Amino acid sequence: MKQLFKITCLIIIVLSLCSCQPSATKEAKVWAWLSGKTTTTPERWEELFSAAEQIGIDAILLECHGGYPEILGDTSDFRDSAAITIIKNALPYAQKHNIELHAWIWTANRTEMSWRRAHPEYYQVNGKGESCLDIKLYNREHYRWLCPSRPENLEYMKERVRELAEIEGLAGIHLDFIRYPDAILPYALHESRGVVQDKVYPQWDFCYCDECRRLFKEQTGIDPMDLEDPTSNQAWMQFRWDAMSHFASEIAAEIRRLGKVSSAAVFASPEESKKLVRQDWANYRNFDYIFPMLYHKYYNWDDEMVEIATRQGVEALAEAHNDASLCTGLFTGHVPAERIGEFLDMTERGGSNGICFFSMEGILRKAGYADSLKAALHGKIGRDE
Ligand SMILES: [Zn+2]
Repeated sequence: MKQLFKITCLIIIVLSLCSCQPSATKEAKVWAWLSGKTTTTPERWEELFSAAEQIGIDAILLECHGGYPEILGDTSDFRDSAAITIIKNALPYAQKHNIELHAWIWTANRTEMSWRRAHPEYYQVNGKGESCLDIKLYNREHYRWLCPSRPENLEYMKERVRELAEIEGLAGIHLDFIRYPDAILPYALHESRGVVQDKVYPQWDFCYCDECRRLFKEQTGIDPMDLEDPTSNQAWMQFRWDAMSHFASEIAAEIRRLGKVSSAAVFASPEESKKLVRQDWANYRNFDYIFPMLYHKYYNWDDEMVEIATRQGVEALAEAHNDASLCTGLFTGHVPAERIGEFLDMTERGGSNGICFFSMEGILRKAGYADSLKAALHGKIGRDE
């Protein structure tokens, strides 16, 4: 009997040592995405951060470089002065209300004219040979994408990260749009955007720039432009997944090197992400937190998919031996006020470490939503204790 007890104990110890659970040690927090502007007034910052504190939000991901970046003055370098100003303006209010502040920036999708004018050849090209700078992809002015295979783009983004990381008191840097443009849009958007995407078509399939073609040909002897059905070519898919994973992982390593928390917003489930936007985020390294945006109605998913997709993400990270902590992102527009608690339970059962809401503005816009959220979070904390 004693022997059996000893063996059981040994098994338990070995199992706990081998556990692939992703960083359960990282604190589970309540997060929210928020958009910042250089013109945001002190009164508005106060209103936003005091509301966040009252609701029970621990950390804000503040968008300081987005689709329409602000330009301050006539700059001769590429320094993103507007992004720096936004963070510096918001920081005292975040600190006053005990909110952790993270700078949220767009990453592969970069629209600033300075870089576009200086190096148009560094931007992505589609299967028809058209640069994303020369067409208006999905009729969106802001759809301008950096090629992840260009080391100059990586250096450019590391530089943007470094100038933000100099701000004392900033907790972390959050990478958004760290992917290719949509080869296929999330399913519920096809009709409103007027596209038929029963498969991948060349005008939406990127990156066929000279550098990517050269590198792939060097590896395989094949010019991807010659592939009849590029999506079915595993090597070509893998090449693009790997190029973006490398780009993401290197920027994240720089964020960590600078002593900041690194995080990324990614598409909903690992498989959909690889398919729709060539984003193999389970293999994005050096991230502390990965936030899958489970805006489930855009995928025509039933509510319970929030739990299932959360679990798929947690399992994919574990399988890839990725120690990033997964925190599910919910869209307030898809989560009715009276059902917030239910959704929190689903993400928790799926294995999410904390919760993130898109967006702070969305929470405050709808009458009563902030109170419902506060009550749901409070109920959760009460139950957990
Ligand atoms: Zn390329």
